[in-house]
Amino acid sequence: MSKSISRTFAFLLLAASPVALSACGESNAQEADRFANVEIKAEPLADGVAVLFGAGGNIGVSYGPDGTILIDDQFAPLTDKIQAAVKDLGAGPVKYLINTHWHGDHTGGNENLGRSGVLIMAHDHVRERLIEGTDEVPPAPSAALPVITYHDGIKLHLNGDEVRVQHMKHGHTDGDSIVFWKKANVLHMGDLFFNKVTLPFIDLSSGGNARGILAAAEKVLTMVDDDTKIIPGHGPMANKADLTAYRDMMKTVIAAVEKAQGEGKSLAQVQAMKPAAKWDVNPDAFIKGDAFVEAVYKSLQKPVHAEDHPH
Ligand SMILES: [Zn+2]
Ligand SMILES: [Zn+2]
Repeated sequence: MSKSISRTFAFLLLAASPVALSACGESNAQEADRFANVEIKAEPLADGVAVLFGAGGNIGVSYGPDGTILIDDQFAPLTDKIQAAVKDLGAGPVKYLINTHWHGDHTGGNENLGRSGVLIMAHDHVRERLIEGTDEVPPAPSAALPVITYHDGIKLHLNGDEVRVQHMKHGHTDGDSIVFWKKANVLHMGDLFFNKVTLPFIDLSSGGNARGILAAAEKVLTMVDDDTKIIPGHGPMANKADLTAYRDMMKTVIAAVEKAQGEGKSLAQVQAMKPAAKWDVNPDAFIKGDAFVEAVYKSLQKPVHAEDHPH
């Protein structure tokens, strides 16, 4: 997977609307334009917990007497609409923000929120990667950076619930967190889980690995029950059965690729076997079978947890 793919990934996930594609060279005004018609839709999940769908990663919201917590914040031009949607839920202004990982479709609103005094939290590698940037992604301004970072996780005791944030190693990136509202029984998986809209995107250039995505799905399945509402990074709301199917898909494809690799097959030969064909059913998906198989193939060539640090 090339870096330019990961660069434009966020925009491609706007697949449902024609505003997608090629952000290169656009001015801020043009960028703002592309989001002009995006509507932020709220779906209540439990007492004081909701999900917001817009453009980019799905946003979790927790609200009540202790203040409003956002999980991810999509793109900068949407901050006002996101704040308005939060207000419509009857929630107070955003006080805390957790980023599930560093990608721009989940952290694009950080600068706006940081400037308005929101306390931003994320895994250590999210802050490091935002500071560093890439050839295509400029380093983030300091207002956009998480000010509280963690290695394994953090717990927030707010609004009568325990919000448990847990780092999952080398999955979609090397800075992924899942967020579990224990009492409300809601779990946000960030981009460790793409529900139905596309095959998984594994950002190898950000330390992602197919094995870690499978491990995260396995771990979450031990935490949830049939009533748990699972917020995927992208796609509609999910439940344990959806995540089980996703886990089975990851397991099947990884096993097939691993076996073929063991027999000395090249990437092209493994792609020709089409081990993900059964799940490669959405013609508009951002990640199709060949790209997914390539990411799995390359993941399996890496030693397990070799990169405990991004650089
Ligand atoms: Zn995303
Ligand atoms: Zn992502």
